[in-house]
Amino acid sequence: MSLQPTIKSRIRGVVFDMDGTLTVPVIDFPAMYKAVLGKDQYFNIIASSPSGGIDILHHIEQWSPDKQQKAYEIIADFEQQGLDRLQIMPGAEDLCGFLNSRNIRRGLITRNVKSAVDLFHEKFGMSFSPALSREFRPYKPDPAPLLHICSTWGVEPNEVVMIGDSLKDDVACGKRAGAVTCLLDETGRYDSPKYANVEHKPDYKVSSLAQFHSLLESTFDLTP
Ligand SMILES: [Mg+2]
Repeated sequence: MSLQPTIKSRIRGVVFDMDGTLTVPVIDFPAMYKAVLGKDQYFNIIASSPSGGIDILHHIEQWSPDKQQKAYEIIADFEQQGLDRLQIMPGAEDLCGFLNSRNIRRGLITRNVKSAVDLFHEKFGMSFSPALSREFRPYKPDPAPLLHICSTWGVEPNEVVMIGDSLKDDVACGKRAGAVTCLLDETGRYDSPKYANVEHKPDYKVSSLAQFHSLLESTFDLTP
């Protein structure tokens, strides 16, 4: 047993993903991808992607303007259906209350649109600042939005935890920026062997926001 005190890493801010992290996942992403890409292209992309993931926005950006517009309209429809059924993730309010009580900064990065973030803020009653949406380019998994939040806060990336439910967007963005990353995996879907060899692995994995709350309290020095 070591007599030296354990030195905990200092965390000064937490950056959240929105859909599937702060809100209950309601968007049927596979259905949305099929509607945008067509079934054949959808299955081709899935088959050639090592982790079975699709970066739909990235695909669309390479299309012609009218094809792009149609794709964005389909996505907007799916996102609207998601907004109509918007629910705050269990544990989110407790967690944010806890972060408030410790004066820990809260930011948000989403690939969803700004109007969705505005609606979320209205419903949730607690604010995240900065809250960067799809209009901020380049978006996740690029580290740019997270680095932007760190510089706005005046904190180092390694003093920030990025939490989200997407390995390819949230964890990749966080790792590339040099932040501490936590994957929210409610159903254990990332335990599948197909994710064993991904480039960016999370530092921590939790199955609920309540578990993330405990992790923050027990593992880090939360000093703003
Ligand atoms: Mg998400």
